[in-house]
Formats: sequence, C-alpha cells, structure tokens
Amino acid sequence: MMQTRTVAKLNFDGCNFCSKLREQVRMLIEAPDGKRICNECAVGAKQILDEQAAEERAEADKIKRSDAPKTPTMGRVVRFIDYADRGIVA
Ligand SMILES: [Zn+2]
Repeated sequence: MMQTRTVAKLNFDGCNFCSKLREQVRMLIEAPDGKRICNECAVGAKQILDEQAAEERAEADKIKRSDAPKTPTMGRVVRFIDYADRGIVA
C-alpha cells in the first residue's frame, strides 16, 4: 500500500533527479530499485562529492575538531532526498 510512490517512479522512464526523459539525456544509470540518474546529474553529484571531500580535507588540516556535517549546496542536482533516505547518497 505504501508502494504506490515507488511504482510511479518505476514507470517514469527518465532521470529521477532532474526529471529529464531518456531521450533528453545521453545516458541513464539505473539503481537496483529501478530509479535512474542521468549522466549530467551523475557528473553534478560527483562534483559535489569532490568539492565536499576537498573542503573536508582542508578543514581537517585547519581544525582537528569536527562539527556537524555540512549540507551540500544544490546547484545542478536538485533533489537528493529520496536517495539520501535510501543511503545511496550520504
Ligand atoms: Zn538528471
């Protein structure tokens, strides 16, 4: 009964991040649960992860004490919420 949302997403043939359709992007990567991310969003997500990692390294060099984790700034990639819930994106 709670699966209607998932079913709707599975029927959508496109990127679950930016909502572009399959024919609008060069490549779609499919998750085990059927959700998809396009090449553009994957690159955007990778950049955010790289920037975060670089920032964290720089921060760790300055201060040893770690604060609460920072929320990544959403530029091109709009919604991480669903993936974060499933632990795909930390
Ligand atoms: Zn996308």
